Amino acid sequence: MIRKRLFSPGPTPIPPEALAAMARPIIYHRSPEFEAVQAEVREGLKYVFQTQNEVILMAASGTGAMEAAVVNTLARGDRALVIRGGKFGERWGEICKGYGIPFEAIDVEWGKAADPARVADALRRLPDARAVLATHSETSTGVLHDLQAIAEVVRPTPAVLVADCVTSLGVTDVPTDAWGLDVVVSGSQKALMLPPGLAFCALSEKAWAAAGRSDLPKFYFNLAAERKSLLKNQNAFTPAVSLVVALRETLARIRAEGLPNVFARHERLAAATRAGVQALGCALFSERPTPAATAATPPAGIEASAIVKTLRTEHGITIAGGQDRLKGKIFRISHMGYVDGTDVIAVLGALERTLARLGAPVRLGEGVRAAQEILLK
Ligand SMILES: *Cc1c(COP(=O)(O)O)cnc(C)c1O
Repeated sequence: MIRKRLFSPGPTPIPPEALAAMARPIIYHRSPEFEAVQAEVREGLKYVFQTQNEVILMAASGTGAMEAAVVNTLARGDRALVIRGGKFGERWGEICKGYGIPFEAIDVEWGKAADPARVADALRRLPDARAVLATHSETSTGVLHDLQAIAEVVRPTPAVLVADCVTSLGVTDVPTDAWGLDVVVSGSQKALMLPPGLAFCALSEKAWAAAGRSDLPKFYFNLAAERKSLLKNQNAFTPAVSLVVALRETLARIRAEGLPNVFARHERLAAATRAGVQALGCALFSERPTPAATAATPPAGIEASAIVKTLRTEHGITIAGGQDRLKGKIFRISHMGYVDGTDVIAVLGALERTLARLGAPVRLGEGVRAAQEILLK
């Protein structure tokens, strides 16, 4: 028998109380029972997003929230600035193309972090830019961009800062209001520990003002209409009832642990994983690693895709390979969400045996030991 264990950077493992909640009989979404759930979820989301504003929920994957952010904050003819340093940064540009929004891109070498000074320069050259579309945790390269510094550069300009926080929210500090983030976008299947299917957008006053003048085509993704319903603990359309019911459970779990402890746990798991893979002869791909997932290149002569495949077939462990131009070059181990130190030891232990099987000169125990030293602290 092989037990299956999930270490992909989305979907991530789901805690038992959320699984149980989804197995309960479904309830009517226009009932006092559901409105009570929605009221609790509203408060829980404000806690996790660290905002006083409403966090809008929609039935979509995270990309739906990205699209909603674009079509609600920009108007026809508006220009945008896109920061691209990976697959998800590129997605902002693709959404702009889909809606005919002219944009300038700041291209960052994959694996490197965006330089906020380049964003400042670009905004000086493009004083009419109405939105800066950024990524906080770039899951495809394992980079955590300096969103706080980018926010400081954008704040004095007319542009809204739209941040993809899909793998930073609930992983590392994302103080939406304190940093002045105008739109924070997230999804359910990452650190919120749920199946895919819920998309989130939190908007600042500046972003709501932009929404007021936005005339891009939209119907389902009309955030102002959603907010109106949400204020009555309702949704404009049928919400993903079972996911919302389960979200109440995972939000309660995050609140019980406390955000500072959640961030510290992810930091510790990430540090242990980084130490472990490096002790096994792998190199970190990212110069500014995200605590959501570790991206690494294998030791010389070993194929990243062989590592991914061997972990899956011989150990029941799912990690991710590289996407796009990184296909076959890197592997990515998630440690976000419902993950603890013993999980990290399990994946590193299996990685050691995998590398040994593939012929890498590893000493069994070295990766695990490096991680244990950090977990013991
Ligand atoms: C997962 C993810 C998304 C959303 O992707 P979906 O497949 O649409 O849920 C967006 N941005 C980042 C950085 C992600 O990791």
